[in-house]
Amino acid sequence: MRIKHHFRDIAGQVENGEVHYKFRRQACCSICHSKNQLERHHVFYGDKRSIAEKYNMTVWVCHDCHRGPNGIHFNEPLDLSLKQAFQRKFEKDYSHDEFIKEFEVNYL
Ligand SMILES: [Zn+2]
Ligand SMILES: [Zn+2]
Repeated sequence: MRIKHHFRDIAGQVENGEVHYKFRRQACCSICHSKNQLERHHVFYGDKRSIAEKYNMTVWVCHDCHRGPNGIHFNEPLDLSLKQAFQRKFEKDYSHDEFIKEFEVNYL
């Protein structure tokens, strides 16, 4: 299977629930649109981090939206909405069956 979007300095940006890939220099925080302290968040992490790495399922977010008190790592609905956006994008690029094969879970 050909892997799309695999570049070092590129990550997804979510706009209106849709994932677009952008270079860091063009990116802003996916959540608050700040350009300060951009960090790359792995949309699927823990035991799924390596799959996120493989398909470049990462997103640009500022430090506050990432690790802050209401950031992705502490905000379940926000975390889930990102996972859903990236699952939809993956299914567009590949297929639903391939998502389930890789992740063994359905977020939609
Ligand atoms: Zn932010
Ligand atoms: Zn993170």
